[in-house]
Amino acid sequence: MPTMCDYPQSVEEYSDTSFSDLHNFSGGPGALPQVVLQQAHEAIIKAPGTNISLLGVSHRSHWFQNVLDEAEFNIRTLLNVPSSYHILFLQGGGTMQFSMVPVNLLRGGNQCADYLTTGYWSKKALTEARKEGTIHEAWNGESDGFRRLPEPGECRFSSGAAYLHYISNETVEGLQFPYLPGLRGVRRVCDMSSDFLSKPFDISDYAVIYAHAQKNMGPAGVTIVIVHEDVLQDAPQNIPSIMDYRLFAQHRSNYNTPPVFAIYTMMLVTRWLQNDVGGLGNMSDINRRKAKTLYGAIDSSYGFYRGTACHAHRSQMNATFVLPTPDLTNLFLVSAEQAGFVGLTGHRSLGGIRASLYNGVTVQAVEDLVEFMDWFRLQHGTDDLAGVQNG
Ligand SMILES: *Cc1c(COP(=O)(O)O)cnc(C)c1O
Repeated sequence: MPTMCDYPQSVEEYSDTSFSDLHNFSGGPGALPQVVLQQAHEAIIKAPGTNISLLGVSHRSHWFQNVLDEAEFNIRTLLNVPSSYHILFLQGGGTMQFSMVPVNLLRGGNQCADYLTTGYWSKKALTEARKEGTIHEAWNGESDGFRRLPEPGECRFSSGAAYLHYISNETVEGLQFPYLPGLRGVRRVCDMSSDFLSKPFDISDYAVIYAHAQKNMGPAGVTIVIVHEDVLQDAPQNIPSIMDYRLFAQHRSNYNTPPVFAIYTMMLVTRWLQNDVGGLGNMSDINRRKAKTLYGAIDSSYGFYRGTACHAHRSQMNATFVLPTPDLTNLFLVSAEQAGFVGLTGHRSLGGIRASLYNGVTVQAVEDLVEFMDWFRLQHGTDDLAGVQNG
């Protein structure tokens, strides 16, 4: 345990002595690997193997077709995705998928769809789905303040549902499913925007998964959809072209102008995962270690740092916590920023602190944050804490 004397006495001194680089813990757009940023930077001036900027490369060029092919190949390899699934690169973010899913899987039919309401983003998904058909909320965690997810037996699933929609990782509240919800025989649709490519999963459990790039995988602008071919066959006719999964599958994601820069950068991230990290098993080990380090610091702080999500459903990607008082929470955020830790402010809907531990956040960054948290607690904790513990 470090003592006070080992630490700088002021935040200014702290940032001067300990760190030169900023550490980005933003909830999204999130941190990206340094090597990917460097390669994207170079490609903006001159795309590798060409004489022009990446920003001026034609989306119909052979060069860009190779980028799309490599991105798809890398994702197939990382996740073992069989050819019965299409991998699409779309625009419109996670929010577009809140509508595209019910338009393609629910519209015009006579089935209902099940939704799990587990936080800020799943509420938004629910609102959009209701515009397209009959929706049944199989569980709603609002009365618990979205501090936990349902236990496996708690949900009221409909056996005849067109699909079940849920969010694997609620980015705002910091809740992550440790198990697979749903009924056998009902299509599972999952928004994985904030934990896609953070760990392996079995795609055969899903009919559709989607994830925008800007939390864990790249810059905003591209959203990955992995969809089983049966879903495309059953989709209604006469849906708007820009929302039709079939057209993007037929045109191999080159139906209208795709976001070339975002797809290129995301491809670099998949290449980094494959070649530098060595696959999603390794990535998952690293992410588990980061989460363990941070939650360990929270849990051993004698109540100074308090996690806001229940232990069993804590997210490995987004750790949400507060200090004993709102004033201390705010002082922590200001001091952390001065010391070089940015993006820690909780989502505007919730407040508090959120440290996002996406793939691009290094183990070192988390260790540095934990060291800062220990330092801050020793500076500000003891007196307030005595009050808290007695009170
Ligand atoms: C951020 C987020 C969204 C919203 O995505 P946009 O790309 O901004 O539309 C949707 N779902 C989840 C899980 C998110 O974290």
